[in-house]
Amino acid sequence: MKKFYLRTFGCQMNYSDSERLKTVLERIGYKETLSPNKADLIIMNSCSVRQHAEDRIFGFINEYEKIRKKNPQLKIGLTGCMVRKTSIQKDKEKDNLLSRIKHLDFVIRTEEMIKLPQIIGIKSSKKTNNFNTLESRELKNYFHINPKYESKFQAFVPISTGCDKFCAYCIVPYARGREKFRSKKEILEETRSLAKNGCKEITLVGQTVNSYPKFANLLKEIDKFHKFGLERVRFVSPYPPDTDDDLIDAMANLKTLMPYIHLPIQSGSNEILRRMNRKYTVEQYEKIIEKIRAKIPDCAISTDIIVGFCGETREQFMETYNLFKKIKWDMAYIAKYSPRPGTVAAKMLKDDVPAKEKSRRFHMLNKLLQKISLEKNKKFIGRTVRVLVENYNKGINTGRSEHFKIVKFKSSKSSVGKIIPVKITKAMEWLLWGQI
Ligand code: SF4
Repeated sequence: MKKFYLRTFGCQMNYSDSERLKTVLERIGYKETLSPNKADLIIMNSCSVRQHAEDRIFGFINEYEKIRKKNPQLKIGLTGCMVRKTSIQKDKEKDNLLSRIKHLDFVIRTEEMIKLPQIIGIKSSKKTNNFNTLESRELKNYFHINPKYESKFQAFVPISTGCDKFCAYCIVPYARGREKFRSKKEILEETRSLAKNGCKEITLVGQTVNSYPKFANLLKEIDKFHKFGLERVRFVSPYPPDTDDDLIDAMANLKTLMPYIHLPIQSGSNEILRRMNRKYTVEQYEKIIEKIRAKIPDCAISTDIIVGFCGETREQFMETYNLFKKIKWDMAYIAKYSPRPGTVAAKMLKDDVPAKEKSRRFHMLNKLLQKISLEKNKKFIGRTVRVLVENYNKGINTGRSEHFKIVKFKSSKSSVGKIIPVKITKAMEWLLWGQI
């Protein structure tokens, strides 16, 4: 039996897409291997949010090319946000990536993963499960492919794909296209079935997940599956202006909604937000935080920040820095700006903050994050949190609390997949230690 090796980069959306891609691969007769050396087919599900992410992928492609020397039949392909056009090397009008990277045999748009058999040249046979009989609904919409879930107790459920926000620095609207919503009926069927099969935590994913029409109502419907054993519902990533009162009320009142939200701000300067084409002001963002904290006082809040965006002055960076001190996010994913080819920022704006200055701002903000994160984590000492245990290694369990804090404690392998009360005894910058 032929083997595939799939490596996923980037956000939860990509991990969720990979679960569907695995179904396609298994249906055409491939079996997963965790070693690229044993694979006949290697696929990378790419992320192009930062230059660094792309550089890593290029590094891996070079590594995998060495494997081809031992196995000349090996095929190497790429999917995800770096791909604009599904194509193979011999196509006349192929995706740019194929011209740039000769080691790649094919690239395939995520939404077109169902075309993979044709792309890798597999002919339909009984052995390959007759992929030609793939249902036409799967061909029209890849969400109809049943995912091969990585875990029995946690699952990502995509509710939309693409994005209509067109932030100046972001490739997603071009790579994944305009925003498309999955039907509510389908989402409820998938979440109900997950809950009935023992899933404890569901994360709804979408590029701007809360742009989903009547998102709070969807959460209310899913909350009813608590009766089947569903304990936790999370969602990533919300877009600030779409975080309305209904959503905040749902977070405050529904049994399954957790006291945690990831709300990307990107910059603390209104001028930079305007240039980024983020459609809110700092004041509007702060208002949302105020409302969240009024209804869910201990809600943990994390964010994304880009430093050194085109034209960002030291003063504008300090606005972000000072806002950080004021809002005190529990966690922040901080990135140095790098232009993504094809975006408005890459075409129209000058990447004029020197690399050294970007690094200085990056480190300054990270230092502040470390301090605030530790302060926040210390508040949990002495409290008992409920941890959904994700893994076990050498006597130590690791999981996430209600507030999405990483918690470690001594226990046994049998705790994996269970929600365990843990008393917090020690706080560090990025995690908590506790005991049962
Ligand atoms: S909201 Fe902006 S950053 Fe997020 S996916 Fe859409 S365009 Fe990209």
